[in-house]
Amino acid sequence: MVVLEQIYEGKAKKVFRTDDPGLVLVSYKDDATAFNGEKRGTIVGKGAINNRVTNHLMQLLEGEGVPTHFVEELSDRETVVKKVSIVPLEVIIRNISAGSFSKRYGVEEGIVFDAPTIEFSYKNDDLGDPLINDYHAVALKLATWEELDTIKTLAFRVNDVLKAFFKAVNVDLVDFKLEFGKTADGAIVLADEISPDTCRFWDSTTHEKLDKDRFRRDLGGVEDAYSEMMRRIMG
Ligand code: ADP
Ligand code: UDP
Repeated sequence: MVVLEQIYEGKAKKVFRTDDPGLVLVSYKDDATAFNGEKRGTIVGKGAINNRVTNHLMQLLEGEGVPTHFVEELSDRETVVKKVSIVPLEVIIRNISAGSFSKRYGVEEGIVFDAPTIEFSYKNDDLGDPLINDYHAVALKLATWEELDTIKTLAFRVNDVLKAFFKAVNVDLVDFKLEFGKTADGAIVLADEISPDTCRFWDSTTHEKLDKDRFRRDLGGVEDAYSEMMRRIMG
């Protein structure tokens, strides 16, 4: 496989075309943004950590029957993945109240839910990724009812697998964001990344935050938190 030109540069990753039309290369950056790009910074070493953590978790999920885009880790920061057309929805699962949920509904962070919740945001930076429901997503032709069904089933399965995995390394999986894509043959697979950028991780004992909230909220120790999560995940 030969890596060809860059086709996209996002906030956290670059995407390159390859000579195989079914594959793209993603390259993880150290750039960090929050609040729809208003806050910018660098988290030294983040790209390599998120690449390795994502690939580890994607392979774990594959083993548990969740189809993913993962193909092959090429280097510290670079991974070959199946090229998909991204379903423009951010799929958010929550086990514990935090972040925008707490803000929107006026409740404290840390309420443990009896059952996980799911919500969708419309992936559209110009609109600030607004919350969207199933009916609106179908009306806007972002996905079909059948695709939404598959996405919901897979997202909850991801939660079951990851919650148990993180519990074993003394981490509470508070919430996280997933993206799904469609392969050339129409199959829905888990895409994008699963990392401290896209999940909230709290130490089960101390409740210390081990994720991007340390950057969003200027808590300090950002790099150390990312390294600590990689250590716990990769052993
Ligand atoms: P953003 O676009 O939000 O700034 P990133 O910097 O992470 O995000 O850019 C990576 C882009 O690649 C995202 O738009 C993501 O949806 C997209 N992407 C993730 N996985 C795949 C894939 N397997 N095939 C094609 N695009 C993908
Ligand atoms: N999230 C993400 N990308 C986004 C929005 C949210 O990865 O564009 C993740 C975020 O890291 C958290 C979860 O989704 O783990 C829920 O985020 P929330 O809705 O609470 O929004 P935030 O507080 O990040 O604004």
